Amino acid sequence: MKKINVTYDSVFKAIKSYIDDESELKVITKAYKYAFEKHFGQKRLTGEDYIIHPLSVAQILTEIYADYECLSAAFLHDVLEDCNVTKEELINEFGENITNLVEGVTKINRLNFNGVSEAMNANYRKILVGLCEDVRVIIVKLADRLHNMRTLYVLPEKRQKEKAKETLDILIPIAHRLGMNKIKSELEDLSLRYYKPDIYFDISEKLNQTKAEREKIVLEMQNKVSELLNKNNIKHEIKGRAKSIFSIYKKLDKGKKFNDIYDLLALRVFVNTEQECYQALGYIHSKYRPIPKRFKDYIAMPKSNMYQSLHTTVFGIDGYLFEIQIRTYEMDLVAENGIASHWSYKEHGSNVKADMQNDMEKKLQFFRTIMEMKDEKDDKNFVEAVKEDSFKEVIYVFTPKGDVIELPKGSTPIDFAYRVHSDIGDHLVGAIVNEMLVPIDYELKNDDVVKININKNSMGPNYEWLNIVKTPQARNKIRAFFNRLDKDENIRQGEELLQKELRKRKIPFNDFLNSENIQKIKDELKIQDLNELYINLSNNKILPSTVYNIINVEDNKNEKILKSVTDNNIKNTNIGKTDIYIEGISNIKTNIASCCKPVPGEKIIGYITKGKGISVHKINCSNVINLKERLIEVHWNPIITKKYYATILVHSKKDENILLNIITKSNSLNITVSSIKTMNNSDNTIYSITVLVENIDKLLKFMNDIKTINNVIDVERSIG
Ligand code: MN
Repeated sequence: MKKINVTYDSVFKAIKSYIDDESELKVITKAYKYAFEKHFGQKRLTGEDYIIHPLSVAQILTEIYADYECLSAAFLHDVLEDCNVTKEELINEFGENITNLVEGVTKINRLNFNGVSEAMNANYRKILVGLCEDVRVIIVKLADRLHNMRTLYVLPEKRQKEKAKETLDILIPIAHRLGMNKIKSELEDLSLRYYKPDIYFDISEKLNQTKAEREKIVLEMQNKVSELLNKNNIKHEIKGRAKSIFSIYKKLDKGKKFNDIYDLLALRVFVNTEQECYQALGYIHSKYRPIPKRFKDYIAMPKSNMYQSLHTTVFGIDGYLFEIQIRTYEMDLVAENGIASHWSYKEHGSNVKADMQNDMEKKLQFFRTIMEMKDEKDDKNFVEAVKEDSFKEVIYVFTPKGDVIELPKGSTPIDFAYRVHSDIGDHLVGAIVNEMLVPIDYELKNDDVVKININKNSMGPNYEWLNIVKTPQARNKIRAFFNRLDKDENIRQGEELLQKELRKRKIPFNDFLNSENIQKIKDELKIQDLNELYINLSNNKILPSTVYNIINVEDNKNEKILKSVTDNNIKNTNIGKTDIYIEGISNIKTNIASCCKPVPGEKIIGYITKGKGISVHKINCSNVINLKERLIEVHWNPIITKKYYATILVHSKKDENILLNIITKSNSLNITVSSIKTMNNSDNTIYSITVLVENIDKLLKFMNDIKTINNVIDVERSIG
């Protein structure tokens, strides 16, 4: 296990070896001093001063040439959590970027993916989406975890196992996706060491027994290969390569015997160019017989985490099997550090941060899922999708053109089709895998070449597919297809409603919908096209009579009400006087009842008061629910341009920032906050917030948004 003596001097020496910008160094130094002061007096369980931890995290990051913001964040990464430092203070001292990194790491520390509860979903989602906006958060977190794993021996056994399991389940898959194999492989061995110590020590024991012998054979083979390449003028370096304990464990776990693991002997050949990779391979194969099935060309077809290399297994000296990897130095950087390798190139003028972010979103399905699902309304769907996509075992299959597609294990040709393009999924009629026709629920395997048969005239997916597919993307896209079908159905129904209305009035449909009238209807109802009209008709948001009345203005009352409503809207800002109509009665005064304050979209009923017009209540308002007399049916007008008052109660833990968050949410929904009252009790705060809102949908969305704010316990509509 690595034991590195980390000091201020050693870390800053490493930093200065690749960062020479004075102003950047100043920030890093300031971050170190700040962390030193804030953590002063704190000890780690190991007995060391706390500052050793942030120093070590920074040290790990110097090995992948992390930038100055990342390094500063490494020093500061625990101050929010452990030192009573506020976010505002950090922003003042170090600016937004560094603070966001620190905050991101602090947030992941609070994540616990095991047994995610419904109520937590919204939070996970927020956090995950937040993370994607800067991949460096995850890189700092990986370094943080690596150092904690290196010093895990101080924790009691139960905690060791928990941490190790969490690392295996969550952080290692992420490191894998990011292609950060060096960190990943150390995390794997450390996790195994604590999660299954018996197995770990058993394997390392066996490795030790054979170590001397293996090293001797590897060195011999190394010399032979080197000789061969020199003879053919290929400049190169060769390293013997120790198989990680974890990779041996995985093979044993699959039922292999220790002695059968034939790639215990492994070499890695480094050359300068891609062409030399293939040349070297050719020479090696011409001298040492390869095992055909074990050859993999990850140069022509990189893994989706960007890994490139040639892999082959050959019969080497004395009949021993050798696994040989051939790659360029550049490929090696990517293979070891993945997404972080962008830091090593240091191309001037390029925006490394943007490149990394770009890479992440382009190449890594994990993040693509998050970005795609960003607007997903249902938090549970979102978290499921992300979990499914990030932490499950994956397979790699090919398109007929040789593009690599990454899918979760168990995926079917339908998943494949939707991953390629939703059009291909929607028109799938069959699948050919490795040139054989397969059923559409066939389980794809690594390296399958998949061709999808499509028919542009197909009826589209069928409901059964929802039970077959494995990926949330495919499921969502199939659902979207059916939603579009529903939309078509709504359009058909809406059209029928209008036809019926016109038949009743003996007006030919085609005459009614001449282009002039259509324009008039569109203008009047502020809609884009007839489809929108039909959908609104089928949802009862627009009445067929309203449409009729727009064209036949003369003899109708609704139109007049509508007119006067609109006029009122322009002249009159008095809330509650307009927007409501009563069949058969015009020009009657209505008031929104102050007890229940209904908003458009809610079911309402009118109560005829003595001399003050009609007061409009929610249909289930306790003040009217038991009344038998003086009630009258009232309706919201289809067109409402005003906002209505509604009062909600927000229960929360004491927190200064909640109000600000609420206001931010209201702004983004274009909801006006008209008053806020605060009530404190022993440990909770209740805010009574009165807003002006267009309709019930907006109000409910607003309330749901507030629920996602940290420390909010409950949100309810105020009644009475
Ligand atoms: Mn830490």
